[in-house]
Amino acid sequence: MASYEFVDHAYDVVVVGAGGSGLRAALGAAQQGLKVACVTKVFPTRSHTVAAQGGISASLGNMGEDRWQWHMYDTVKGSDWLGDQDAIEYLVREAPKAVYELEHWGVPFSRTEDGKIYQRAFGGMTKNFGEGPVQRTCAAADRTGHAILHTLYGQSVRREVKFFIEFFALDLIMQDGACTGVTAWKLDDGTLHRFRAKLVILATGGYGRAYFSATSAHTCTGDGNAMVLRAGLPLQDMEFVQFHPTGIYGAGCLITEGARGEGGYLTNSEGERFMERYAPNAKDLASRDVVSRSMTIEIREGRGVGPNKDHIFLHLDHLDPKVLHERLPGISESAKIFAGVDVTKAPIPVLPTVHYNMGGIPTNYHGEVLTKAGGNPDAVVPGLMAVGEAACVSVHGANRLGSNSLIDLVVFGRAAGLRAGEIVDRASAVPDAPASATEAHLSRLDRFRNASGSTPTAELRLKMQRAMQEDAAVFRTGETLESGVRRLKEVHAGGADIKTTDRGLIWNTDLVETLEYDNMIGQALVTVEGALNRKESRGAHAREDFPDRDDVNWMKHTLAWFDDATGQTRLDDRPVHNYTLTEEIEYIAPKARVY
Ligand SMILES: Cc1cc2nc3c(=O)[nH]c(=O)nc-3n(C[C@H](O)[C@H](O)[C@H](O)COP(=O)(O)OP(=O)(O)OC[C@H]3O[C@@H](n4cnc5c(N)ncnc54)[C@H](O)[C@@H]3O)c2cc1C
Repeated sequence: MASYEFVDHAYDVVVVGAGGSGLRAALGAAQQGLKVACVTKVFPTRSHTVAAQGGISASLGNMGEDRWQWHMYDTVKGSDWLGDQDAIEYLVREAPKAVYELEHWGVPFSRTEDGKIYQRAFGGMTKNFGEGPVQRTCAAADRTGHAILHTLYGQSVRREVKFFIEFFALDLIMQDGACTGVTAWKLDDGTLHRFRAKLVILATGGYGRAYFSATSAHTCTGDGNAMVLRAGLPLQDMEFVQFHPTGIYGAGCLITEGARGEGGYLTNSEGERFMERYAPNAKDLASRDVVSRSMTIEIREGRGVGPNKDHIFLHLDHLDPKVLHERLPGISESAKIFAGVDVTKAPIPVLPTVHYNMGGIPTNYHGEVLTKAGGNPDAVVPGLMAVGEAACVSVHGANRLGSNSLIDLVVFGRAAGLRAGEIVDRASAVPDAPASATEAHLSRLDRFRNASGSTPTAELRLKMQRAMQEDAAVFRTGETLESGVRRLKEVHAGGADIKTTDRGLIWNTDLVETLEYDNMIGQALVTVEGALNRKESRGAHAREDFPDRDDVNWMKHTLAWFDDATGQTRLDDRPVHNYTLTEEIEYIAPKARVY
């Protein structure tokens, strides 16, 4: 192995990731008077949060009556009773405060006639415990994530968070079961860095790119999740992958659910508004898993549109062009560029596309990472937190409602900052680490940098993406999932023969992509292993061979550990938190989930 030297840094808190959750956590910790660094592989305002369109949910009640209790009910039902109800209560109660905070920091929300924050209807959001649609999703046109991310970046700079931009985090420094820092590679000059810290907060986003067709950015490779697996810690509920009903056919780019919130609807080859059959009440605004399955059934039964009858139409052409221009300008442009469609005149060709990972790093509602140490399902990993799409709190359970992610980012980003203020000892020295604690980080980097096998990374990545797309899709069976495990194990074993060509350390995109691929393959495997193991259908996990939800045997979170040396996954579980945070609301008991 070549010899490598670290540039050394010491901080109270190091946040990895500068999307909505990372920035909110970083500025929250800085507000607590802590010395904070934020390490990010892309420029902060290029994080995937920038692409969020439709909006952020909070029961402000600006467009008719709304209550946090109703938001809680919808989120519990949306999660198909896999969400932890204490965490969900925390989310929905804190949501209005978090949105007003964003408003005061400068997010340019769209406005109602009387100057309040504009709110639109979104899937699965109802009033009075399921009675009818409610307008709960606060929006800045269809560029809500863009507005939030830019505002949070400005606020973080103002609070003197120290940014390390285009630094690729490699691995967690772990000592005696506690996290004491993180290592990173600076992409533009090839130097290696060791960030020692009293607390590391992972905010590295989802791993949508493990699939062939995803709405997420190419950078969404779940690097933090993979760092957790390599640290010998588990990931939770990875089998729950959300397909968004309306990715543009072919391109995969997202058309926000807000399009249906503003009155858009889906049709099949017979021109029928088929959602009326599947969800008589909510229709096109049923939750995403329900709409994606309905579309898939229509296509399977021969009622898809287009020459190959393999997609569905989304109509906006009946809406007032003024509304489209004001409320949905971004998706009008995307439809033009990626589907060649003028939305005022023709329908958009769409297909369910991978969009969000409900699973991730298990945490409590303070953001503290959990592992099942000594059999205790709520044991905290000292020195480590996770927030945002990388985390599994779990508020989204088996299926996330649209606009509940952006609110998750800021509510739990804030919670992590507050917790950091409580638990980080300002007076103590930042922990040191012996060279042995980072040896494996360097040898992994060195192995890929000098990999001289015969299979290029892109070939393995494509095989992995195809296996995920085909075998861990909207509908699953034992057979497809077994095939998925087999194919992915083969791809994983193929890693021994991987080939990179660039041996440098400066702007080595070959090496970046290889590290990202290696991060994804472990996550892909625990995803299909978890899906094969879970013998029921719940939320986004639809098993044709086990079509019903089974609360007796399966109302529990999956935990998955991965051994990279052997490619083996080990599974265990944790109970769902079937209790609320306060006595102001009772536990919402499971019932059939119909829309
Ligand atoms: C197209 C699209 C539209 C969406 N629209 C909505 C919406 O309207 N409403 C809603 O609620 N949700 C929406 N979502 C979901 C939501 O936007 C995401 O779940 C959320 O933005 C994720 O934020 P995050 O902070 O967890 O991570 P991200 O925004 O993905 O940021 C990840 C950060 O981690 C950093 N990072 C990753 N790996 C490394 C590494 N190895 N080293 C250093 N840094 C690293 C990156 O640089 C980046 O800064 C949408 C998602 C997509 C894809």
